[in-house]
Amino acid sequence: MKLDIERVVSTLCEVAPPPAPLHEPRFGNAEAEMVVNCLEDGWVSYYGAYVNRFEEELAAFCGVNHAVATVSGTSALHAIIHMMGIGHGDEVLAPALTFVASINAIAYTGAVAHFVDAEDTTFGIDAGKVAEHLHRVSERRDGTLYNKETGRRIAALMCMHVFGHPSDLDALTGVCEEFGIPLIEDAAEALGSFYKGAHVGNRGYLSALSFNGNKVITTGGGGAILCNDDALAERARRITTTARVPHPYEFSFDEVAFNYRMPNINAAVGCGQMLLLPGYLEKKRRLAVRYAEAFSEVEGIRHVSEPADCVSNYWINVLLLDPGYEDNRVPVLEAAHAVGLGARAAWIPVSQLKMYADCPRMDLSVTENLYDRIINVPSSPHLADGE
Ligand SMILES: *Cc1c(COP(=O)(O)O)cnc(C)c1O
Repeated sequence: MKLDIERVVSTLCEVAPPPAPLHEPRFGNAEAEMVVNCLEDGWVSYYGAYVNRFEEELAAFCGVNHAVATVSGTSALHAIIHMMGIGHGDEVLAPALTFVASINAIAYTGAVAHFVDAEDTTFGIDAGKVAEHLHRVSERRDGTLYNKETGRRIAALMCMHVFGHPSDLDALTGVCEEFGIPLIEDAAEALGSFYKGAHVGNRGYLSALSFNGNKVITTGGGGAILCNDDALAERARRITTTARVPHPYEFSFDEVAFNYRMPNINAAVGCGQMLLLPGYLEKKRRLAVRYAEAFSEVEGIRHVSEPADCVSNYWINVLLLDPGYEDNRVPVLEAAHAVGLGARAAWIPVSQLKMYADCPRMDLSVTENLYDRIINVPSSPHLADGE
């Protein structure tokens, strides 16, 4: 079916006057002041007051006991999977509808992603469909879950809160409990998103955030590991700082570890950005309402609002083509780009990328159909104020 492309693009331009990139970082005055402070006091690497402050503020904001700041979201995920003892011979259930970094982090450890399908409401993993799949392909031996087809251990389930919309964490926790595997939350896109009143990143055994330049707030590059367990947090700190044995002058290390802790310079930027976060989230909600209203009357396409009982940070707004309108995706993207709008397609399902083409998978038809229907549109907070 044919969409009125001109109307779609003019409606987009009303909400996000071009040129409008997909998501643009903005800074206040505090970031520069704090970075200058950091340069003056000389603590530029991961020892430093801003790292501790940023971690404390993040943990408080997310309602978790601990946050450990890292150099990127990808490194946070890598450290998480490594810490869980997952590696060669293991599979991690993971979405095909995600940014490639989620899956790369699994591959770094030698483990293999086992792709699972999305639901078309939240775009997150479809817990019911995964449970059915596991009943078919898995078996439990000596307290461990195995894939009967590959012989590998199924070591964890990694969910991702897609474009900031919380996944159905009750249902996903239920599947993990039923099959006896831990949950990892890739909450890289979801700072400021809440599921049934609690910030996301609370349910995972360990969870990850990202502060890359296009995320809700940025530290240039950065990420964080979130958790509630004191011992796990301690281990996350050690594993991201080369596992040095504390001693006043001896230098000893007791396991293979990473140099993944966030430098103080980046954390200084993060502390400044934390001051802006509530305002950004408020603007992003207003922008989402404007998209929803503007597209309520346009046939064949609609704005996707937050799932029931959830508050989404609306990191990147999604327009979803109605079933039957898939052929309009490329024409809309082309027309939007022609007028200077940074509209974007969803990620090509990671299961289709050549390096992951041999990974085990379930039926991914919903993911594939969502890819054909999703259009991401400019979502910088300041667009809400017509800037
Ligand atoms: C951004 C992102 C990451 C990775 O974060 P970086 O900080 O860029 O390494 C991981 N997973 C998802 C879903 C992301 O969107």
